[in-house]
Amino acid sequence: MTKKDRYAGVIHWFEQNMPIVETELRYDSPFHLLIAVILSAQCTDKRVNIVTPPLFQAYPTPEVMAVSTPDAVYEYIKSVSYPNNKAKNLVGMARKLVDDFGGKVPGTLEELESIPGVGRKTANVMLIVAFDKPAMPVDTHVFRVSNRIGLTDDSKSPQQTEKELIKHIPAKYLSRAHHWLILHGRYICQARKPKCEECGLTPYCKYFAGN
Ligand code: SF4
Repeated sequence: MTKKDRYAGVIHWFEQNMPIVETELRYDSPFHLLIAVILSAQCTDKRVNIVTPPLFQAYPTPEVMAVSTPDAVYEYIKSVSYPNNKAKNLVGMARKLVDDFGGKVPGTLEELESIPGVGRKTANVMLIVAFDKPAMPVDTHVFRVSNRIGLTDDSKSPQQTEKELIKHIPAKYLSRAHHWLILHGRYICQARKPKCEECGLTPYCKYFAGN
């Protein structure tokens, strides 16, 4: 199977079977999405969604969080992973937004990456989810599933995966493809034992063909 056919088959299958996909993180503004995405690093969306409602209520805007302290923020997020670091990053992020971006979340990769706690993956999530720009955030699921299916050729780094997926997936599908691959990795093509018997992608999957 050519790479082109594989991509076409996978996109078609997802389009038919998972037409509407959204992030599972709950948020009501770009600022709150950025908080949720920072909190979600090495933590489940479910856990993040438990801590964010009171956190969002206490910190409705970057201005309010900018004058707070990491200790105060920590009290709201202590049940997520790495709460000390994340509390520090959240206050640093809010101060940066107020100081350099007029209290708004900026919409370019370069500006986003200049914010404390925001790496390339988080910046790409913001571009795709908050600003609807073509981007491909690569997390552990996207990385693994792309290699298994054969969308990437035994990619060795998230950056390589990002580059290959952006090259082959038409721009209009990128945002959905990001969610498709994450959800597929989370529920079907799981790390330890992929559920191939439940998977509709077997006709296109390199891993399945080799087993
Ligand atoms: S067939 Fe198996 S390995 Fe391939 S995508 Fe589906 S679950 Fe993953």
